[in-house]
Amino acid sequence: SKQINVALIGNPNTGKTSVFNALTGLNQKVGNYPGITVDKKEGVCKLPRGVKAHILDLPGTYSLNASSLDENVVIELLLNKNDKDFPDVAVVVTDVENLKRNLLIFTQIKDLEIPTLLVINMADRMPKKGISLDIDALEKELNTKIALVSTRKNQGIDNLKELISNYRTLSTTPCLETTAIDEAYFSNLKKAFPNQLLYKLWLVITQDVNFGKTNRKEIDAVANFKTKSNADLKRLQQKETIKRYQLINNVLKKGQTIDLSQATD
Ligand code: GDP
Ligand code: MG
Repeated sequence: SKQINVALIGNPNTGKTSVFNALTGLNQKVGNYPGITVDKKEGVCKLPRGVKAHILDLPGTYSLNASSLDENVVIELLLNKNDKDFPDVAVVVTDVENLKRNLLIFTQIKDLEIPTLLVINMADRMPKKGISLDIDALEKELNTKIALVSTRKNQGIDNLKELISNYRTLSTTPCLETTAIDEAYFSNLKKAFPNQLLYKLWLVITQDVNFGKTNRKEIDAVANFKTKSNADLKRLQQKETIKRYQLINNVLKKGQTIDLSQATD
């Protein structure tokens, strides 16, 4: 059977490479992305029921609003369905101590309607920080599956493999409706490109990245669809970020408790 593509994505220092090592062991190699000096780490992992996965450890990324070469690598991959590494499932790795900030990119990837699951890593730090999580509530609020992991203690990795192998059951419903950012603008965009994903269109319009040759024509058409000034687009981007953090705050209110009186750090 075909190998499935898994992309590990997340903010720097959340433990992506630690998760990558836990999944792939010695079955890994390091190469380069063509034309740039960013490392490309890939490996192979055996999943339950004979499924094999190709695992890609992507560079640390704060958001899909690209500002560095590293981040461009991630955006270009996620916007290019024809890339041989295009993920069947995106695994977003987060640090339990920085969930609010780390979840931003989770909501963005989910809005690209890619099956996305969440790793909450560094679970060993929870008692010291007085953090408790209601995983069921978080899964429900984020409409995903969650693996609570400590790569340091080698905990939760088998569960993660199980969740990856069941990626077909993951919801691809977006977190944030783009119309919540600007009803009129995104309704018009939808009318102009009825068969396209709105959040993808929005990234094509606002990000200065290379999308490859395959759908150049289409992308040029979208990129030229500038019914707003750059300043207005910037304002909409800021509004998008605010909306995402509101969403994340509401999610964490329901699924995370931090009791500093229990913290021992
Ligand atoms: P990356 O930048 O996302 O690839 O993160 P790394 O895998 O390089 O890990 C960043 C730091 O977090 C390193 O110092 C790791 O040792 C540490 N780390 C990774 N996983 C865990 C964990 O489960 N628990 C704790 N306490 N630290 C971890
Ligand atoms: Mg790393």
